[in-house]
Amino acid sequence: MFYVSTRGHPDRKHFCEILLEGLAPDGGLYLPERYPHVDAATLARWRGLPYADLAFEILSLYIDDIPADDLRAICRKTYTTEIFGTKEIVPLKKLEDGVYLEGLSNGPTLAFKDMAMQLLGNLFEYELARRGEELNILGATSGDTGSAAEYAMRGKKGVRVFMTSPHGRMSPFQQAQMFSLQDENIHNIAIEGVFDDCQDIVKAVSNDLEFKRKYRIGTVNSINWARLVAQVVYYFAGYFQATSPHPEGTRQVSFSVPSGNFGNICAGHVARMMGLPIEKLVLATNENDVLDEFFRTGVYRVRAAADTHETSSPSMDISKASNFERFVFDLLGRDGARVKSLFGEQLGREGRFDLSGDAAFRQARERYGFISGKSTHADRIATIRDTHARFGTTIDTHTADGLKVAREHLTPGVPMIVLETALPIKFAASIVEALGHEPERPAKFEGIEQLPKRVTVLASGAQAVKGFIARHCG
Ligand SMILES: *Cc1c(COP(=O)(O)O)cnc(C)c1O
Repeated sequence: MFYVSTRGHPDRKHFCEILLEGLAPDGGLYLPERYPHVDAATLARWRGLPYADLAFEILSLYIDDIPADDLRAICRKTYTTEIFGTKEIVPLKKLEDGVYLEGLSNGPTLAFKDMAMQLLGNLFEYELARRGEELNILGATSGDTGSAAEYAMRGKKGVRVFMTSPHGRMSPFQQAQMFSLQDENIHNIAIEGVFDDCQDIVKAVSNDLEFKRKYRIGTVNSINWARLVAQVVYYFAGYFQATSPHPEGTRQVSFSVPSGNFGNICAGHVARMMGLPIEKLVLATNENDVLDEFFRTGVYRVRAAADTHETSSPSMDISKASNFERFVFDLLGRDGARVKSLFGEQLGREGRFDLSGDAAFRQARERYGFISGKSTHADRIATIRDTHARFGTTIDTHTADGLKVAREHLTPGVPMIVLETALPIKFAASIVEALGHEPERPAKFEGIEQLPKRVTVLASGAQAVKGFIARHCG
């Protein structure tokens, strides 16, 4: 399987070549040159496989430069009951007839990013050892991504993590999750500034090519194809759990996905392109409705920082959706020149583009199953309250956005699977607002706020961070 850039660059690459890379040389994102098709007989064979073996079957369609036995071992080491809490790894929970929650947030940091990041940690360690190389991961986080990356990379040979976060601005629980890690290869850097300052630092350091090469700087952001393909697996696992075995491939399901950077739902799009019988892909946004606006109107309009709202589902607070270019590439018939002109030129110039006049946009629903909706703080609180009252289940704010929008798009007879993207303990203040009491805390997180913290506070600016990295790379 070869990978190509969404902006039409002529290079074709193998999986392990793009694994440690970010963007393609022309600024585009990598996608497989085609989606392998999974027929009904294959679906029937996959049903009933343990999650790790299902992951192996799907990944092996996309990875031809890691020997099968090694890849299977990596999957089995990643998706264990011990790390993800249950044998199912992504257990399905019925709320009521036709409406389910798929639990993607039972990994080490209690958010769905663990599903992909845990695999990425093992793939990185494997590939770096094979090459005899090292990598220093530099990132910026406001919460979920940074902790998922740190828990995936802790103790891994050949990898160091330098994670910047805005000093004092993450929730006490999120700070405790990250800063309590004592591993030698994990470095928490609290920047005196806001999240945008952290992102600017990462950009500035990455743009210093000499420094980047000398210190082998890499990233683990959501545009990484390996993260995306790891997420494809739980769409299949959700389908198997929500449908009965016979006859395979004729029964449809829908998914509702709380969305920010379009990474999670893009994996659903890939699963559907592979032939998984998905009726609808319901995209749910919060007040930051860049994507809902696109699917309603055909206009994609990047927001300015001042127009980006801080909400109670903060992991969906985006001004632009970094994986969206992948879907547009498929939508426009894989026309790399057109994608390059839209994302590489027009967005930079005008901050928006309009596909409402394109036949392709009008087919987004019919051909690709996409439909969208928006949820606000009041919706979130009402949904958390209602779900607790009627089903005795506490859901987090992001999952509440997904459930609220899912209810607007139910089809009788088609199971709706809402992806649960975090556990409520991560966003306790909103749960208290909705229910009047604290959410349940998993036993292993009891008292983490009191653990010793390992973090260095630095002034905002790339220079201080470069100095810190140089001092910690032996
Ligand atoms: C990251 C995240 C999202 C958004 O996922 P995308 O892949 O960026 O669309 C939603 N919910 C939670 C809890 C997250 O951490």
